[in-house]
Amino acid sequence: MPLLKHNVNRLRPKIKVVRLKILFLIKNMADNIETIRHSLAHIMASAIQEIYPKAKFGIGPAVESGFYYDIELPSAIMPEDLAKIEVKMQELIKKDIKFKKSKVSKIKAKKIFAKQPYKLELIKELKEKEVTIYESGSFVDLCRGPHVKSTKEIPNDGFKLTKIAGAYWKGNEKNKMLTRIYGVAFLSKKELNDYLTTQAEAEKRDHRKLGEKLKIFIFSELVGPGLPLWLPNGTVIIEELETLAKHMEKSAGYLQVRTPHIAKEIMYKTSGHLPYYADSMFPPMVLQEDGQKTVYYLKAMNCPHHHQIYGSETRSYRDLPVRLSEYGTCYRYEKSGELFGLMRVRSMQMNDAHIYCTEDQFSTEFMAVIKLYLEYFKIFGIEKYVMRLSTHSKEGLGKKYIDNEKLWKKTEAMVRDVMTKEKIPFVEVPNEAAFYGPKIDVQIWNAIGREFTLATNQVDFAVPARFNLTYIDKDGKEKTPICIHRAPLSTHERMIGFLIEHYAGAFPLWLSPSQVCIIPISEKHKDYASKIKNELAKNGIRTILKDENETLGKKIREAEMQKIPYLLIIGDKEIQAESVAVRQRSKGDIGMTKLSDFIEKIKKEIKEKI
Ligand SMILES: [Zn+2]
Ligand SMILES: [Zn+2]
Repeated sequence: MPLLKHNVNRLRPKIKVVRLKILFLIKNMADNIETIRHSLAHIMASAIQEIYPKAKFGIGPAVESGFYYDIELPSAIMPEDLAKIEVKMQELIKKDIKFKKSKVSKIKAKKIFAKQPYKLELIKELKEKEVTIYESGSFVDLCRGPHVKSTKEIPNDGFKLTKIAGAYWKGNEKNKMLTRIYGVAFLSKKELNDYLTTQAEAEKRDHRKLGEKLKIFIFSELVGPGLPLWLPNGTVIIEELETLAKHMEKSAGYLQVRTPHIAKEIMYKTSGHLPYYADSMFPPMVLQEDGQKTVYYLKAMNCPHHHQIYGSETRSYRDLPVRLSEYGTCYRYEKSGELFGLMRVRSMQMNDAHIYCTEDQFSTEFMAVIKLYLEYFKIFGIEKYVMRLSTHSKEGLGKKYIDNEKLWKKTEAMVRDVMTKEKIPFVEVPNEAAFYGPKIDVQIWNAIGREFTLATNQVDFAVPARFNLTYIDKDGKEKTPICIHRAPLSTHERMIGFLIEHYAGAFPLWLSPSQVCIIPISEKHKDYASKIKNELAKNGIRTILKDENETLGKKIREAEMQKIPYLLIIGDKEIQAESVAVRQRSKGDIGMTKLSDFIEKIKKEIKEKI
């Protein structure tokens, strides 16, 4: 897809364009739907022009799932007005209106758009002598297209106007605030309804809302934006994830390390992160010590630290591969407007590791990492994923990529070969590699089909050499190892944000902050209830006791709101039979059982990560 298909595209945030490009590669979606979406933006503008003849139009591109138009309206518009505009749009579509393209001189265009100041501004900025305009019925727009030939190509029941927002003209807060009206559009009514249902479900699952409701994390004004604080419930989830990662890594031969959160500037210069990456790092800290000035940076990545550990002793080919892992905390300076819940943050703990290996070992090591990803996907019930191999571009050599074409080609071929040999499905995306080597990005989809980029697996053939990392090979010669950077569980922030939405807050038993909730029916059952709590605690089961003086119904409802997997109800009958009455999340009552049997059952489920 050409990036500058519409003249309006250059005003779109860059990231969206890239995302769309990827989306097109993955889904092989017909160009058609984007054309329909963009044509609908014209139709919407046309409808608005009829209803509000004084409206001034900005731009109206297609976006993911739909379109929008930025408009200056003579009066404020309310959500209920959208239905009116929709009806008008449907009338227009039924009229089988043709999109007529013509090229006119800039002088003529200025006349046509004499009452449209935003269009005049765009015309002035265009370098060409002639501009392209499109007429659809009574509405004329400055646009390069493409559009549908006629509105009969647009499914009349496949779109819906969804949202009104404010947007500064050209995204610049010094400019006037326009009204942005969003619509979504699909090829059929069914697709539209499926999309709207998913959106509604996604809203219910929003990790920011659930995170607060389930007391997983908070943000504090005093700590700062993008710096999440993990509450006890969130900390339990973190510890379970770390236990899992450590177990998997230990059995795969990794060694755990720990490194500080700051380092001297010189290290990041050596690694090549500075000056290129400076924008994404927090500003430097300047220390004056013993008359000397030293500059420190907050750690934005763990790699250079791990490189120091690798380089701290002489390595022989017999010591390789060396696999160093750390749940390392990093700090990145994301612009405040780009922060988003746990998904875009400024402090993050990364499931990081660096594998130093010889060229001969590379395929096996790389594949082991990919298999680790797949094992995690199975544990978390992630069924849909795509691996994306990002490679270099010739033009980028020496600029965004290390200037060694031979090595690029060789490493890319190694990755491609091993993925193909092991039959791991992947798509290849040119010109998206890391600056030191090709990488695999992993796109995953949650239970309701929302897409996330979770983790990357990168090959690095360049940075080890910058740090003079070596090993003595069989022939007695010093050689540079290849380094694999990997983070299959991403950061705690992104992973937990993803998992909250994936599970809709109903974490599987092993990950649940509280696994069992004991509810005594009345005062006289409290002693037995707390005995059970102790027994469960002794067995390592996370249990809470709800013994406040509330009705049974209320206590059950509260525990269910917290999405606790098991509730144990204690009354006279249970005490007499030395048993517990069990209610299981989403299954309801499963009957009375001996406490020891319940403990055995739940321990087995925790172990098996059910
Ligand atoms: Zn257009
Ligand atoms: Zn790294």
